[in-house]
Amino acid sequence: MVIDSNPTPPSSRAASVAAIRTPAFATPLLVGRPNPIDRERLAERLDGMFDRGRYTNNGPLVQEFERSVADLVGVEHCIAISNATAAMELAARALGLTGEVIVPAFTFVATAHALDWLGLRPVFADIDPHTHNLDPTRIETLITPRTTGIVGVHAWGRACDVRTIEEVAGRHGIRVIYDAAHAFGCSKGDRMIGGFGDCEIFSFHATKFIQSFEGGMIATRDADLASRLRLMRNFGFAGVDRIVSAGTNAKMSEAHAAMGLTSLESMPSTLETNRRNHLAYRDGLRDVRGVELMDFSEPDRNNHQYVVLEIDPDRYGFARDALAEHLRTHHVVARRYFTPPLHRVPPYATRTAVDIPSLPHAERLSERVLVLPTGSQMDVADIATVCSLIRDLPSRRADAGGP
Ligand SMILES: *Cc1c(COP(=O)(O)O)cnc(C)c1O
Repeated sequence: MVIDSNPTPPSSRAASVAAIRTPAFATPLLVGRPNPIDRERLAERLDGMFDRGRYTNNGPLVQEFERSVADLVGVEHCIAISNATAAMELAARALGLTGEVIVPAFTFVATAHALDWLGLRPVFADIDPHTHNLDPTRIETLITPRTTGIVGVHAWGRACDVRTIEEVAGRHGIRVIYDAAHAFGCSKGDRMIGGFGDCEIFSFHATKFIQSFEGGMIATRDADLASRLRLMRNFGFAGVDRIVSAGTNAKMSEAHAAMGLTSLESMPSTLETNRRNHLAYRDGLRDVRGVELMDFSEPDRNNHQYVVLEIDPDRYGFARDALAEHLRTHHVVARRYFTPPLHRVPPYATRTAVDIPSLPHAERLSERVLVLPTGSQMDVADIATVCSLIRDLPSRRADAGGP
C-alpha cells in the first residue's frame, strides 16, 4: 500500500475522521487483480510442455497463442513478445523510427520510456479531455522535419481517432504505432483494435484484461514488418547458425503462452463479470454530483477492465486525492492514473525545461482521474458499498461542520 508523504490537505480532514471507523471491506480490493483462469487447463498445457521438453524458441504454444490472437483480432500477423514495452522497442526499431516521435502525455510511462530507451525523443501531445486519447488536431503543430512517427494510446480500451491520426501521418509520410495495452477485445465500430496503423501492441501483463503473467503481442497487416520483427525478437536468427540482422532477445516462453491461451479461454466470462460490474457502478454513481464515470457506447466494444472516474472537486466537494484516501481507509485501493503526466516526470521534465509545454487537459486529468477496483473479486453488492462510500463522503463534510 502506498502512503502519500504529502501533508494532509484540509479538504481530506473529514476523510481522516472516517479512518477510525471500521473499514467497509475486511480484505483490500485492488485495481488490476488478475482475472480468473481455469487452473486445470493451465496445468494440462504445462504438462504437455514438460512432456515435449520444449520451453521456448517459438514453440507450439507460442505459435498457437499467436494464431488465436490473430483470429480473434482479425489481423494477418501476430508476433508474441516477452512484454509490451519490449514490443514497442522492437516495433519502433523495425519501422526505422529516428529523431522525434509524438506521444500523448497522459499514458503509462512505458509508452515514452520505450522510445527514450532507443534514443528517440518523445514529443508530448495533449489529449482530448473527453476520450483521454491523443487530440489529432494538436498533432500537426508538433510535427517537425525530425518527426518520424506517432504513437497513439487507446486509453482504457477506447480507440483513438484512428482516421484523423492516420490521415495526418499519411500526409507527412510518418509511421503510426498504437499502444493497445488496454485494448484487447475492444473495437472501433465493427473493426477490432489490432488492425490499425503500421502495427498495434497488446500487453498481456498480469494486470491486463487477458494475461500471460508477462507478455506482449505485436499485430500487423504488413508481412515484411512481421518478418523483420520475428528476426529481431530472436537475435536476428533466420535459421540454425544463420544470422541475418540485428536483434535482441524478446521471445515469449511456452509457459507464458500456456497462460495466455488459458486466459483467452476465460475471456467470455471475464468480459461478463467486468460488464456486470461496470453497469453496477453506473447505477450506483448515477446521481453523485461531481463524479463522472467514463462510459463506452455501442457500436464500439470495450473490455471494461477499467472503471474510470473523473472527480470535479468543486461540484463533489472533495478533491480526487481526498476521495482516494477515504476509500483506502475502507480497503478500497483505487488508483490515481496517470499522475503526474509524462512531461512532468524524469527524465522528460528536465529535458523539456527550455520549452516546457503546457498540456492543460493532461495536467487537469492527472489530478482528477481515479480508477476503481473491479473484476471477480467483487460482486454487485460490494460495488453498491463502494458507491455509497463515494456518495457519502460529501455528507461527512457536513457532519464535521465543513472544512
Ligand atoms: C501495461 C502498459 C504498458 C506496458 O506493458 P508491459 O507488458 O507491462 O510492458 C504500456 N502501455 C500502457 C498504456 C500500459 O497500460
